[in-house]
Order: sequence, then C-alpha cells, then structure tokens
Amino acid sequence: MTRITPDFAKELKQYGDDTALICFNCGTCVAVCPLISESFPRRLIRYIQIGARDRILENSNDLYKCLHCGLCTETCPRGADPGEVILSLKRFAVATWRKM
Ligand code: SF4
Ligand code: SF4
Repeated sequence: MTRITPDFAKELKQYGDDTALICFNCGTCVAVCPLISESFPRRLIRYIQIGARDRILENSNDLYKCLHCGLCTETCPRGADPGEVILSLKRFAVATWRKM
C-alpha cells in the first residue's frame, strides 16, 4: 500500500521544482512527449500533487526515460515545467537513496 506524504511538494522545492502544483492535469504534455509512454510525464506530476512520495521512489527508473527535450514545457497551458519537475525528482531520488 502506498503511503501518502502530504508535504511532498514542499519537500521537493529544495531540489528545484516549483510548478507541480499548478498543473491541472490536462494531458497536453502526454500528447507531445516523444516517449509515447502511458501518462508520462503527467503521472509523475500527479504523484507529487497527491503526495505519493513512495510511488516516485518505487518507480525512479522512469525518471531516466526523460530526454529533457523541453516539448512538454513549451506546450503546457499552465506554465508548468514538467522537464524541470523531472530533474527535481531525479535529485530527490538520488539524495534519498544516498541516505538509505
Ligand atoms: S501540460 Fe501542463 S497542465 Fe497539462 S498535464 Fe502537463 S504539466 Fe499539467
Ligand atoms: S522533456 Fe521529458 S517528459 Fe517532457 S516531452 Fe521531453 S521527454 Fe517527455
């Protein structure tokens, strides 16, 4: 069972992310992402929004699929920055694994 961490978005700010909470889950980023992977990168942003911190760590290999092409960031109608969110999640995952 996934444990929910309500302050996860706040915790993530120290790793660079500042836009996950403005995402309104429209799915534009999923449509333009060249990975054609189910709900990527929106799924990761949703995990942040609901505080699914453990789910991010369990699926941290997914973070390394991102090409950092910037298409999601260019097309997001809310001005969110999924590419930077993913970078932040990578920093978070590496820092967390190092502490374990
Ligand atoms: S395009 Fe922007 S607002 Fe829409 S799901 Fe992706 S990050 Fe969220
Ligand atoms: S930056 Fe990453 S998540 Fe965004 S469109 Fe490119 S490959 Fe997909």
